[in-house]
Amino acid sequence: MSIFEHEAPTHPALAELRGGFDAVGEVPFSTLEVDELNEFLIEAYRAQQQIKGVLAKIVHESMNQQLAKRHGEHSLSVHIAGQVHGNSKSVASELAFARWLHRFPELHAALISGDVTVGHLNELRQLENKHPKASPHMERAQDFFVDAAITLQFPQWVDSVGYWFKALDPDGKLNDPTDPKYGTTITKLASGDVIVTMCMDPVTGEAYLTAVDAEEQKIFNAEADLEPIDKLTPKQRTQTAIMRLITRGFQKADGSFPEPMVQLVMSEKVAEDLLARAMGCIDPDTNGPMDFDPFDLPIDYDDVDGRCETLQGTPVHPMHALVPLLISKMRRLVIDEYGQATEEPKNAPTFRFFTKEQRQVLLALARGKCGIAGCNNPYAWLQMDHIQPHSKTGQTLLPNGQPLCQPHNKAKGDRE
Ligand SMILES: [Zn+2]
Repeated sequence: MSIFEHEAPTHPALAELRGGFDAVGEVPFSTLEVDELNEFLIEAYRAQQQIKGVLAKIVHESMNQQLAKRHGEHSLSVHIAGQVHGNSKSVASELAFARWLHRFPELHAALISGDVTVGHLNELRQLENKHPKASPHMERAQDFFVDAAITLQFPQWVDSVGYWFKALDPDGKLNDPTDPKYGTTITKLASGDVIVTMCMDPVTGEAYLTAVDAEEQKIFNAEADLEPIDKLTPKQRTQTAIMRLITRGFQKADGSFPEPMVQLVMSEKVAEDLLARAMGCIDPDTNGPMDFDPFDLPIDYDDVDGRCETLQGTPVHPMHALVPLLISKMRRLVIDEYGQATEEPKNAPTFRFFTKEQRQVLLALARGKCGIAGCNNPYAWLQMDHIQPHSKTGQTLLPNGQPLCQPHNKAKGDRE
């Protein structure tokens, strides 16, 4: 049985290679003498290393020939992953190795001849990453690395290469071990873009990658019949996979979702303009095509008719709100000239708590800010406050509600 069985290679060298693998695969290893088994073990390992060297050569040539493009794929890793039903991310790391290796022809030849292993080369790559200026020196010293690999055991080889790098960098800056800082930082830019940086320990990271890879694979499979131009890029696919996993985390047992993921506040004027631009409408003033000047948007933070922002008050470019506008649930909110809502969502004025609808209206009116002027505490700290306390006959109606941050709300409660 061979994984290659479904297609016969046309080139004689490939046919021979496959025949060799098939023959080795059929050897009854359980019947071998210990010495024979050892020979198979070492040779199979050596072949595995050599094949990576050969692969690097083929990869380099495939890139020269723009092979992926000719097959209508974004990248070689996507192309290969599609053909072998593999994971484009792990293929991509193999290709990165191949590209790196191409810069060091003597090391490359030594890998193919079995004199150095992928382990040796990964060690060199890591050292080079920490010290990019080492590259020209490494190119000159390839002989030394190969000789040392042949004559030394791996740990001694690592020591001697470390010694070589130390001579290159006498300050010792190179050998500063940088401790990884595990954790996640989420930064929200003024534009509303969110940048997420994560560093995970190997176990958490593996679990994360497994889940993301599996989800990416599903998306990739679902794209099989699409034209290349309609397929997601690898980065977009990763993001979609992560969002799907997060969304699933929110899902209830019955398949429904407890809350929308994102709530946007968009003025009618902005929404109409956006739809008109998206559909290429005619401008009623000029009778010509709508002006698509991206800077001439009807948005104005200080105008109640020019709002396009998240419920937290972060301005959003209308183009980013187009898809949500088309697929999301909408709630109408009419704001009068005093900045108050003209319609009260259905509720009982004596009820202890504001309803979800009332909260959303109050947050939209307050633009995600605490009701105390000048307070900049984060959105996540906001709580709904009865301006006239509920205990003192304050009604649970919009005019009597405001968001307050938790510290201000508590301070107010303590005074009463
Ligand atoms: Zn506050």
